[in-house]
Amino acid sequence: MATALTCFVALVAAGCTGDDRDGFRPGAADAGDPYVPGRGNGGYDVTHYGLDVRYDPSTDRLTGQAVITATATQDLSRFNLDLVGLDVGTVRVGDAPADHRRSDAELVVTPRDGLSRGRQFTVTVGYTGVPTAVEGGSLGSGGFLHTADGAVALGQPDSAATWFPVNDHPSDKASYDLAVTVPDGLAALSNGVPGPKSSADGWTTWRWSERAPMASYLSTLVIGDYRVVTDTHAGRPMVTAVAASLPANGGAASSLARTGEIVDFLASRFGPYPFDSYGGIVIADDRVGYALETQSRPVYGPAFFADDRPNASVVAHELAHQWFGDSVSLARWGDIWLNEGFASYAEWLWEEHDGGRTAQRNFELQYAKTDWSQPSVEPGPDLMFGTAVYKRGALAVHALRRTVGDDTFFRILRTWTAERAGGNATTADLVALAERVAGRQLRPLFDAWLVGGSAPTLP
Ligand SMILES: [Zn+2]
Repeated sequence: MATALTCFVALVAAGCTGDDRDGFRPGAADAGDPYVPGRGNGGYDVTHYGLDVRYDPSTDRLTGQAVITATATQDLSRFNLDLVGLDVGTVRVGDAPADHRRSDAELVVTPRDGLSRGRQFTVTVGYTGVPTAVEGGSLGSGGFLHTADGAVALGQPDSAATWFPVNDHPSDKASYDLAVTVPDGLAALSNGVPGPKSSADGWTTWRWSERAPMASYLSTLVIGDYRVVTDTHAGRPMVTAVAASLPANGGAASSLARTGEIVDFLASRFGPYPFDSYGGIVIADDRVGYALETQSRPVYGPAFFADDRPNASVVAHELAHQWFGDSVSLARWGDIWLNEGFASYAEWLWEEHDGGRTAQRNFELQYAKTDWSQPSVEPGPDLMFGTAVYKRGALAVHALRRTVGDDTFFRILRTWTAERAGGNATTADLVALAERVAGRQLRPLFDAWLVGGSAPTLP
């Protein structure tokens, strides 16, 4: 009934096309998230990306094949994938060729037959071209950046669509297998567990597998001249890499070398580490002025280790995101404080543990200089990386700790990371869980510390 009405309304508004027959409708062309208009899609849920890409730094040309496994969440006549630039060759749904067309950053796929709700299907996309950067984002340069020695693909809130067709919104998480072929001598790094490498005709294929559900913006690809260290930590692979142009034993390398120690400390507070590999990558390209919590293997821009200074704090921040943001992901970007408030708070926890200022002292200093007119929740797209998201968010976390006491506070965090592992959640979910674990009303506390327009009373 709803379907027929939707079709009727669509008919009146914009014309009901032939593929609306029999209740089969096109999937939505975006995820409906006002922070990233056009990004993400509806009508299906991706469970796996199988990516096979080849990149030649001498021509900046990338050739790829994506095999995407998804389940239709409605009776689906056609659906969109996000893809920025790049030329699409063939598209198949299952074994059958599918019609496809491009519209801006969308790849619109019409399968030969409609896909019934609940049906699992694969879509295979062959593509090639010179990938593009994403400029002008509030975080800075991202997307696919051609570097002096290779390339770096990363970015937030979106980046993945610059190098593979994807449902580019964190609400649709999936596992990944990546094979990336680059000229011999270059490293090709990504998320997850390393697989076997193979070489032929001057090219080497590196393989990576991320089994835990991953939001697309947490995928990364780093190609270039790197000092790669492959080790194990707590029985799982640990892969770290520092750009060869940076000092071999400098601040970046020494900070990255603390990854295992910092992860273990955070696990003692947040609960078991959520992924089956560890690591980190320090790049040398200073267009990337940020670090990003790419899943299991954060990428750090060179500015964090300027003048060759060590910086364990940024490592603690990005590793804390493995629990807060990567394992437990936001459902809408308006809740980004759920990522950044906890990661910022983790910096305070780490600093105290490492012999610096206490979390309480950092809280007091931050409280005194906070602009309470800016909310942590729904900060607006222009301020999604603003102080209110990071620092005011951290204040709210510490205020919760002061209010409920250490035992209950850390039980709330561990319950959250356990119950929500691998999924998506909202601020309302966190408040409800905290109230359940603490056995008391906490909504007024969260409201005051996250969105209230004046300085809250100190707990
Ligand atoms: Zn962060």
